[in-house]
Amino acid sequence: MSERNISGTAPAGAAALAALAKARALLEAYGPQLAADAEQARLLSEYFQEILRSHGLMRSKLAFDACAVCAGQGGGASCCFEGAEDWYYPLLLLANLSLGVEPPQGERRPGDCLFNGTQGCGLVARYGICLNFFCPELFARLGEAEMLCLSRAVGRELEAGRLWEECVGRWLIAHGERGWI
Ligand code: SF4
Repeated sequence: MSERNISGTAPAGAAALAALAKARALLEAYGPQLAADAEQARLLSEYFQEILRSHGLMRSKLAFDACAVCAGQGGGASCCFEGAEDWYYPLLLLANLSLGVEPPQGERRPGDCLFNGTQGCGLVARYGICLNFFCPELFARLGEAEMLCLSRAVGRELEAGRLWEECVGRWLIAHGERGWI
């Protein structure tokens, strides 16, 4: 692990691990109550459906194959990079945990994102920049019309995530929990 993250203030990954610890604490404290909240459950399910749709599109358009080409170069030349994990905040990591996904946090490949595993990104609920970055090679490979489809699917996924986060944020505040803000 390098000594500083992209903002030069702390070891890369430290903020991500702190956010993950907070997400775990939230899940432990409120998981059953949140699961029983009908609006939360509906919005989480809709968010997951949108994630599955955009993942399915990425797979069917062979975009994942294109990304795997880069990820395999020299043991990791993907567009993911060390420090990107620190963008992740407690609610977004809580979404991953709530969907049964355990973010990778073992040894990172040099220069790579902590959450990038051997099978690619180990998260299902991802930050906007992770979802919205499409490299020029991918554009060239898929073409304008397909890229437009993908961008729209990503937009729907992000909007569904935003609605879920708003709902959970309101719920937490109503229950006196502000430590995640
Ligand atoms: S897509 Fe996943 S592995 Fe890549 S930078 Fe984002 S969180 Fe990290």
